[in-house]
Parts: sequence; C-alpha cells; structure tokens
Amino acid sequence: MLDDSVKHILHHTRGLTLWLTGAGISAESGIPTFRGKEGYWRVGSRNYQPEEMATWRAFQEMPDEVWAWYLYRRGVCRGAEPNAAHRALSRAEQRMGGRFLLVTQNVDGLHLRAGNTLERTYQIHGNIDFMRCSRECLPAPIPMPDGIDVTWEKGRPLTEHERTLLKCPSCGARGRPHVLWFDESYDEANFRFQSSIEAARLASLVIVVGTTGATSLPMHIGTIAAQRGIPMLVVNPESNPFSGLVRRTGAGAFLEGTAGEWVPQLVDLLPD
Ligand code: NAD
Repeated sequence: MLDDSVKHILHHTRGLTLWLTGAGISAESGIPTFRGKEGYWRVGSRNYQPEEMATWRAFQEMPDEVWAWYLYRRGVCRGAEPNAAHRALSRAEQRMGGRFLLVTQNVDGLHLRAGNTLERTYQIHGNIDFMRCSRECLPAPIPMPDGIDVTWEKGRPLTEHERTLLKCPSCGARGRPHVLWFDESYDEANFRFQSSIEAARLASLVIVVGTTGATSLPMHIGTIAAQRGIPMLVVNPESNPFSGLVRRTGAGAFLEGTAGEWVPQLVDLLPD
C-alpha cells in the first residue's frame, strides 16, 4: 500500500511527470535484465558479459557474434508481451498527454507496443528492431530487414545471405544494431540526449522504475531532480543509486518491490 506522503506527492503533481524506465520494467514480461543470471553470451569457450558485448569495440572485433547476440535478444523481445506496468504507462500518456514523458533505456519496444507514442517516449538507448549504417551515412535508423528471422537460436551462425541483408542499403558498409553501446556517447539525433536533460529541468516529478543507474544519462536525470529539490519516486526490488539520492534529499520515496506491483497504483493516483 502506498503511504500518505506518496499519495500527497502524486495528488499535488500539476506539471510534467518524467518516467525513467530500465530493464526491470520488462523483467515481468520475461526479458532478462543485464544484471540477471542469463546476462552473459558464450562465444567459443568464453562467456562474455553484456558490458563487453554491447560495445563498438566488440563489434569491430567480432561483428557476426555481436549481431547474433542482438538477433537472439530481438527474438526474446518479439516473443514477449507488454505487462501491467507497460499498460499503465500507456494509460498515463492517454490521460496526461503533454504532462507525461517517458525516457526509457529499454531497447525492447514494449512501451510502444503497449501504446505509448514516439513523441512522448525517448528511447535513449535505441530500439533492437532497427539498424543503422555503421558509417552513419543514413539520415535515420531503418527497420530490420524482412529476410532476417525474428527468432534466433543461440549459437546459430549468420549465413552469407543474412550478412548481405545486414549491410547499409545506401553505401554497402556494415549495418549495426540501432543501440547505444557502452563505449559510445549519447546524442540528440539518435538518442534524444538534450531533450531528456531539458525534460529533467522542467519536470515536477520524476519516477524511476527498474534501473540500476549504471549508465550516465539516467543518473544525470536523477541528479538534476535531486539538485532541483523535486520529488523522486524509485521503484525497484533492490536499493540503488536513485534510492540513495532520495535518502539524501528526503524528497520522494523508495518503493521497494516490482514494477507490476507499484506502477499501476502510481498511475491511478496521478491527476488528469
Ligand atoms: P539492469 O539490467 O542494469 O538492471 C535492472 C534493474 O531492474 C535492477 O536494478 C533490478 O533490481 C531491477 N529489477 C529487476 N526486476 C524488477 C522488477 N520486476 N520490477 C522493477 N525492477 C526490477 O538494467 P538497466 O539499469 O536498464 O541498464 C542496463 C542496460 O541494459 C540499458 O542500457 C538497457 O538498454 C539494456 N537492457 C535493456 C533490456 C530491455 O530492453 N528490456 C534488457 C536488458 C538490458
């Protein structure tokens, strides 16, 4: 049950509510987080951690393996369905319109499939259903080619035909997954960097769901909220740097538990 101080915050929110979501919100849809047991990927006899696979460096060294990892994960995402927390956020956007903004680190596309719009959803780490030119010659990411299987068995190598399909249709260079890798930087054109910062400067309330805060822009958003003294609500089964910020500022609350448990309740109490 939500306590009275959280209800008070929700009832009195009149401006923009910025929701910041991470892999934890999709955990109840069956998509593993990076910190979970299933996070690694095996290449030959070695297990690679996501922090090693999700890099430009790994893509330079073993492009087919990196593609196979993404194609496998894309299959997992496509096979998953939005859960109660995703659906609640779609209702929140319908009710609140321009006073709602969703900044998501997830690449699974489940927020959009639940009904959130691209206009109010900043996919700050990209979307696994898109690719772009590795030489950045295309003006925008393009959908994954039709000829690429939606399900991908672990360990299955790419065929020559698939390698061709995964080239840039414009210049013929290698195509790459449309995601932000750990050794790359945010930008506005692909990842809505400045827009996300601007939203954090304007928001009346920040609600952080299911993220460890291991990447820089999400932590930056949390820090801006703390410096501005606006309330922050943090939903997570475990304490994390965001709950640490709330503890220090005293503005907001840490709601220990899952996204499915808390998010629908929070949405129901926000005023239209
Ligand atoms: P993470 O894997 O680092 O952490 C997941 C967080 O979710 C943890 O803090 C965990 O305690 C919490 N959590 C687990 N189950 C939960 C639940 N049921 N409800 C609420 N919280 C729950 O994920 P991250 O912080 O988002 O960052 C890692 C990177 O991983 C991001 O760049 C993201 O793009 C990528 N990623 C995305 C997906 C996806 O799109 N679904 C999946 C895995 C990783």
